Amino acid sequence: MRISGLNLAPPSCLASVRATRAEDDLRQKLIHAFQSDEEEVRSRGFFESLGRPEEWISPRESAEVWCIGCPCGQDRGKIFGVRVGDEFSAPIFYACLACSNRALIFDPTLHGYNAEIAKRKRKPKKDPNATFAMHCRACKTTVWHPVVLVTYQGELDEPFQSRLADFFDVILIGGVCVKCGYTGFRYDAECA
Ligand SMILES: [Zn+2]
Ligand SMILES: [Zn+2]
Repeated sequence: MRISGLNLAPPSCLASVRATRAEDDLRQKLIHAFQSDEEEVRSRGFFESLGRPEEWISPRESAEVWCIGCPCGQDRGKIFGVRVGDEFSAPIFYACLACSNRALIFDPTLHGYNAEIAKRKRKPKKDPNATFAMHCRACKTTVWHPVVLVTYQGELDEPFQSRLADFFDVILIGGVCVKCGYTGFRYDAECA
């Protein structure tokens, strides 16, 4: 659905961090990292080939982008996940560089559309081995201005509308590399 202009609150998985909406150039950069111009054209072309009566809504307009920082005021941090082979996997934590705060920001068993509509929530792993630091592909360092992008591409049934922010269907996690400025995402998951 089109959520640009709705001013959605941050999803509750970000309750333990400071989440501020990405604006202007940064938002544009991150939105393009999520969906390139080429993908935009392809997505529109595919939709139109289906000949549906409804209007096409770009995934870009279904996305919200949150800059993550620590409640202590720090806006840099490391992002930790679980190493599965060479892959960076959930659950995912934000770790502050200035204080000892380490906060869960995404666990697919708890967060996102599927977890929200599940009748019984699966329990998170007690002690996830989330020690794998997300690194920048360009310069290999692990300190970020972290960013979380969530999308709301489907339509939501009425009883859930008041908690729309928690029913994201895709999540991407990455940020702006503090050292080299690379801006993009290193983790993505479908939640619906
Ligand atoms: Zn802190
Ligand atoms: Zn870098």
